[in-house]
Amino acid sequence: MRCPFCGEAETQVKDSRPSEDGAAIRRRRLCPECGGRFTTFERVQLRELTILKRSGRRVPFDREKLVRSITVATRKRPVDPERIERMVNGIVRQLESLGETELASHVVGEMVMKSLKSLDDVAYVRYASVYRDFRQTEDFARFLSEEGLGEEDGRDHEAPELDPSPGRAA
Ligand SMILES: [Zn+2]
Repeated sequence: MRCPFCGEAETQVKDSRPSEDGAAIRRRRLCPECGGRFTTFERVQLRELTILKRSGRRVPFDREKLVRSITVATRKRPVDPERIERMVNGIVRQLESLGETELASHVVGEMVMKSLKSLDDVAYVRYASVYRDFRQTEDFARFLSEEGLGEEDGRDHEAPELDPSPGRAA
């Protein structure tokens, strides 16, 4: 399993046991390259979903990729890996319940943002900053302000509307 932090291909399994709900195998892993620690869950995938990217490209929905992006966003935050796993389960269930076999990437991205917001403010901002693909720090400061996470100044900036379309979605 590839390290989500540095991309090293070979990581070590330190511990392996069933997850809380018994439906997955939980493995704690260590990256020998950067020392990063992360947890993976191996489970059966029930349904194939296709993601339609903004570029028009279609890719299979990749649960592991989703977990990796959330793991990176929550790095060194007090977030239990089991909570991330439950959050991703919830997202996948929601995606499946939409009854579509093909979904636009922003549908997934917005769902992740919504879930992260209730999980951890810092992780949410980290994810949002990548997801929204901020090009200007002004955009980012205004975003923080709108979310009640930033400074109260800068109100007189008449910046353009945020592009509501997705950037690099997970
Ligand atoms: Zn690493």
